[in-house]
Amino acid sequence: MSRPAHPSPAGRFASSQVSVPVPEDPADVPANADVCVIGAGVMGAWTAFWARAGGAGPDEDWGGGRSVTLLDAWGAGHLRATSSDEHRIIRSAHGEDRFYARWSRRALRHWERFQEEWGVGLFHRSGVLWFAASETSWEADSEAALRSLGIPVERLDPAEIAARWPVIDPAGAAFGVFEPEAGFLMARRGVAATVAAFQRAGGRYALAAVRPGRSQGGRLLDIVDQAGRRWSAESFVFAAGPWLPKLFPDAVGDLVAVTRQPVFYIGPGEGDSRWRWDVLPAWSDDAGGCYGIPSVDDRGFKIGIDRVGPRFDPSNGERITDPDDLRLARAYMRKRFPGLADRPVLETRVCQYESTPDRHFLIDRHPAWENVWLVGGGSGHGFKHGPRIGEYVVGRLEGLPIGGQDGSDEDRFRLGPRVAQRGPHLSSDAMAEAWPVF
Ligand SMILES: Cc1cc2nc3c(=O)[nH]c(=O)nc-3n(C[C@H](O)[C@H](O)[C@H](O)COP(=O)(O)OP(=O)(O)OC[C@H]3O[C@@H](n4cnc5c(N)ncnc54)[C@H](O)[C@@H]3O)c2cc1C
Repeated sequence: MSRPAHPSPAGRFASSQVSVPVPEDPADVPANADVCVIGAGVMGAWTAFWARAGGAGPDEDWGGGRSVTLLDAWGAGHLRATSSDEHRIIRSAHGEDRFYARWSRRALRHWERFQEEWGVGLFHRSGVLWFAASETSWEADSEAALRSLGIPVERLDPAEIAARWPVIDPAGAAFGVFEPEAGFLMARRGVAATVAAFQRAGGRYALAAVRPGRSQGGRLLDIVDQAGRRWSAESFVFAAGPWLPKLFPDAVGDLVAVTRQPVFYIGPGEGDSRWRWDVLPAWSDDAGGCYGIPSVDDRGFKIGIDRVGPRFDPSNGERITDPDDLRLARAYMRKRFPGLADRPVLETRVCQYESTPDRHFLIDRHPAWENVWLVGGGSGHGFKHGPRIGEYVVGRLEGLPIGGQDGSDEDRFRLGPRVAQRGPHLSSDAMAEAWPVF
């Protein structure tokens, strides 16, 4: 296998100048490949990129050189995809779980390296502030885990929070946990940049909505698209995000629950620069059930509701927010960000979580087809890990066994069985108790 030269940057350009990658006419794309990746969200885009371009870099030399086809039903970072919003928080805090903290740091190194190589502004180091309710909280566990890993973290008492960011009312929080090296990444733009780099490295990318086709002797031979065209490959990676349960009702089914999640962009007043990302951190408030990202590209202050919403159809669901969600967001802002509580909504989004019961990702072989990989279950925290997930999947494609990259921690990615856990983002009960809005 000959590995292509690592794709070089198309030239230095401003963060907003990433163009959406243009898919090829499916008729021009070979119908056979070493690897076919289905889904050009963050997980599929990075899997395709590493499988094609490999890990050539200052301290890495692995993989790459395969013929790789990337197929998506609607396109890289399209508005129905979970990876599609403007931005996603990048943080290492993960309670006492050091595994995701390590993965997040490695993924961030990749994001930072490639934004330089590609000449694209993606990561914004605003820091991330967590509001902690008590010493026995997920946030307190996160602080201990980050310290043990040598990841910079600060504990701030409420007075320090108010002094540092006067627009925040810290009332009710016992303390804050601040990750200064965390921040947020331009999400749609990041997916587009990854797919564009994949194309520059010789990867083939086309629009096609596919389902499994013929199989033989425990292997899938091909997949079929909406036009009846067959695509064959040695290995298939289905990184289909919230569509995995529909594609694989038997193998995935209820393991991944798809729920409706609203997001609001709130407009500050004229000339008011206090809500910008260069003065305010991204933040998350478990007890309040909300998280947010300060204004970037002058789009406004983003606030998301973190309670798990109703079931949602990612293909046909209407992406219109519910007035009750806005009522909740305003009630929260009145308490924590009072200067924005009555400001207008500039834009709304409806996204979806595709959550597993324990919120661990799904990265496993299909139980019946040994050349088929199921990759997804982002569970509201998968975006930041995209580069590491793709790298991990390519390691598995190269023959590394489960446990061969990160030891027994990898068991968490198996198809099942899974035990439901109460994570920091499944706290609708706590939220209802905390805020008098229901
Ligand atoms: C509101 C919200 C906030 C979030 N906040 C954060 C955050 O702050 N930080 C963080 O790290 N994560 C966050 N997440 C989670 C993160 O966005 C997801 O885990 C991640 O984007 C999932 O990526 P994916 O590639 O698995 O799925 P997707 O991005 O949905 O990609 C799947 C792709 O597969 C394609 N596809 C599906 N079926 C087919 C088919 N049959 N044929 C062809 N193509 C197909 C789709 O078109 C789609 O493009 C958040 C999620 C939401 C909803």
